[in-house]
Amino acid sequence: MYKVTILGSGAAPGVPSIALGWGCCDANNPKNCRTRTSTYIEYDNTKLLIDTSPDLRWQLLQNHINSLDGVLYTHSHADHLHGIDDLREINRLKGGSLNFYATKDTVDVIASSFSYLLAKPEKGNNVSMQPSLVANEVFYYKEFYINNLKVLPIRLVGHVLPSTGYIFNDGEVVYIADYRKLEDDILNYIKKPVKLMIVPLTTTEGSRFHASFDEVMSDIKRLAPQKAILNHMAAECDYDEIEKITPQNVEPAFDGMTLEVE
Ligand SMILES: [Zn+2]
Repeated sequence: MYKVTILGSGAAPGVPSIALGWGCCDANNPKNCRTRTSTYIEYDNTKLLIDTSPDLRWQLLQNHINSLDGVLYTHSHADHLHGIDDLREINRLKGGSLNFYATKDTVDVIASSFSYLLAKPEKGNNVSMQPSLVANEVFYYKEFYINNLKVLPIRLVGHVLPSTGYIFNDGEVVYIADYRKLEDDILNYIKKPVKLMIVPLTTTEGSRFHASFDEVMSDIKRLAPQKAILNHMAAECDYDEIEKITPQNVEPAFDGMTLEVE
């Protein structure tokens, strides 16, 4: 069984944002208060985080998450990465290193911008004093396992940076990060009915780098999930307004939303 928690459902500026405030969002609806993107996914006894939002400390405290088996990265943009320093607390509780998984470009950014966080076995890394993250490079369309969870990284196109989506257990859960377009052959990699799809909306009009509401809806139709969750929403997306225009199997995300998938 999977347990998924949307830790942060907001786009890069969060909602309210410094520049736009609440924008189109109703300030009285707590579901519109959005921190930046991170998602927690638990499968059997495997506990994973997808991305480390700049709001990670608050998200882990709010959701009582204090142990992880690994972190999957989608890309190296600040709104998905810059909470990485908070992982040192997980290291400390674990008393050991923590694996993260990312494509080479993201591993390179972490190694250059956050080199102090990487494990240094030659120095006998003492995790109570020093953080200790271990890079595991992943490759598009090459599956790997974390315990008994099968993970397939997929290439998402059209965002400013290439980003990585993840297909879990042949398609039971599909996680899409910032993207403009899904590659045409994505269905070849989905071998089971999709129970849950998480996909970023950002804004309804979309942009050069983000799919619009209509494009997201057509991608949801292609994958035909039992349930789809719209994530990564900016101040242009009011929760109730988005809910009104989505079909029954699609719901906007909110911070702290939990989903169970059998
Ligand atoms: Zn983003």
